[in-house]
Amino acid sequence: MHTADGAALALEPVGPQRWRVAHARGARLVVEARLPENDASRRAGWDSSDSYRPIVEPGLFQAIGHLALPLPQHVDLDRALALTVAYEGFAEAGWEVVDSFGRGPGPRAAAPTAGELRGALFVAGDLELAEPAACPGARRRARAHRARRLRARGGGGWAPDLAGVAALPALAGRVIAAERELMRDPGPPHYLVSALPVGEPMERGSAFGGTGLTNGFALYLMPNLDVEREGLEVLRLVAHECFHAWNGLTLRLDGPEEQSYWFSEGFTDWAAREVLRRAGWLDDAAYAADLSQRLRDYHASAWRETPAEELAEAFWTDYAAQRQPYLRGDVVAMRVDHALRDASGGADELFALLRALVDEARATGRRFDTPALLDRLEARVAAHAGAERARALRATLRAVVVDGATVELPADAFGPRFAVEAAEAYAWDPGFDLDATVASRVATGVRADGPAARAGLAEGMALVGMSLMPGEAEHEVELRVQDGDAVRELRYLPRGAASRVPAVRCVEG
Ligand SMILES: [Zn+2]
Repeated sequence: MHTADGAALALEPVGPQRWRVAHARGARLVVEARLPENDASRRAGWDSSDSYRPIVEPGLFQAIGHLALPLPQHVDLDRALALTVAYEGFAEAGWEVVDSFGRGPGPRAAAPTAGELRGALFVAGDLELAEPAACPGARRRARAHRARRLRARGGGGWAPDLAGVAALPALAGRVIAAERELMRDPGPPHYLVSALPVGEPMERGSAFGGTGLTNGFALYLMPNLDVEREGLEVLRLVAHECFHAWNGLTLRLDGPEEQSYWFSEGFTDWAAREVLRRAGWLDDAAYAADLSQRLRDYHASAWRETPAEELAEAFWTDYAAQRQPYLRGDVVAMRVDHALRDASGGADELFALLRALVDEARATGRRFDTPALLDRLEARVAAHAGAERARALRATLRAVVVDGATVELPADAFGPRFAVEAAEAYAWDPGFDLDATVASRVATGVRADGPAARAGLAEGMALVGMSLMPGEAEHEVELRVQDGDAVRELRYLPRGAASRVPAVRCVEG
C-alpha cells in the first residue's frame, strides 16, 4: 500500500483479512493485493464451501469481488463508484476476459455501487465463451438474451469431462429469458454466467451449486455432470441463481440476514419451480410430484418448528437447519400465492407482489426485514379482501416465519387441477449411526428393528462403499460390505416412522 506519489504506508493487521492504515487526510492511496497461484488439481478436492475462493491457476482466473479485492471499511455499500477495470498483460497472454461489467481486457469504465463491486464476478483465461442464440418466443426483447455463458477448460493433471455441459448455454439462456418475461424486466444488457468444474467426478448422482452475483451468477458443477441427464435439477439451479437478481440483489434484506432467508431463499426456490412450470419443463404430474416432495421434506424436517432466531444460529453449522428456511419459505410462498389469487378472484398473484417489491426497492433503495415484508403482504391482501382478513393472514404467516408454526395449505392451494390431501410419508432413518459409521468405515449403531438390519447389515461389518441421500426416505441406501472375500451389496429404503403429511395430486378430468 502506498500513496499516489509513491510513499509506502504501513499496514496494521486488525483481524482476519482486515488491516488499518494511517494516512494524511484526503490522500490518494494505491492498494495492491496479490492472489497466490493455486494448483489446478486441488480444485478436484474442493467441495461447495471452497468453490467461491479466488482461483489463479494455469489458464484460469476466477474471483468474486469481496473475496479478492480489498475495500475500505468506511465505504457506503450503496454509493456508486467510478470504476475502471483493466487487465494488464492478459491480452498478451492470449487470455479471454469477462466480468460482471463487460468483456475484454479494458481499460473499461463502470459505475457499480460498492456493494455491486463486492458481488461482482471476474473471469479470465482459456475460456469457452458462448452466447445463446435468441430464444424462441422472446424476440421482442432480444437484448435481454445476450446472456453470456462460459466454461473453463481444466488445467494441470485434472481433466474434467465437459461433454455433458454442451447443452447448458442454450438451456440457461431459455431459463433466464423465461424469468425475465415473468418479472417483466429486460435485465441488464450484459449478463454473465460462469460454470466451473469443481470436485471429483461421480459415478452415480450429481453435485452442483451456485451463487447469484452482480449481473450474473456462478455455477460450480461436478466435472462429469451430464446436463441432459440431470436436466431438471440443473435448470432449477439456474432458475434459482438467476432469480436472486431480483430477490436478494435488487430487493435486499435488512437486519440479521439469516432470519429473512425464508424470503430470499425460500421464495426464490418457489419462483424457480414456477418458472420451470410456466416455461413448460414441469407438466402437471411432475409439478404435483415436485410440490409433494417439497411438502414431505418440510414436514419431515427436524427444524420445522424451530423459531427463526434459533434457526439462524444453527444455519452455518447444521445442513438440515440450513435447508429449513428454503423449505419453510417455499411453503409460505405457496400459501401467499394462493391467498393473493383467492382474495383477488384470480387477478393477483405472488409474482405481481414480487414485481411491486422490486419496483419499490429500486425507487427507494430501501432494504426489507421480516416485518417490512409482512407489511407488504398484508397491504396487498387488504387491498383485495379487507383489513381483517389481511391481518389474520399476517398473524398466521408471522407465526410460521418467526416462531416456527407449521404452514397449512388449503385443499385448492394449487387451483382446480390439483388437490392437496394427506398421504403417508416416512421419516428418514438409515437404521445405523451414520456419522460413527462414516468415521470408522465399520457398521456402527445398527438397530435390530431398523431398515438396515432388515436388509442384512450387522454391527461390525466392514463397509467398502456407501451411497445415500441424508433426509430422503424415498431414496435408496446402497451399502457395499465386505463378506469374507466377497463384497456384498445391500439396498433398502431408509424409511422410519410413518406419518400423514400433505401431498399434491392431479385431479382427473
Ligand atoms: Zn439462493
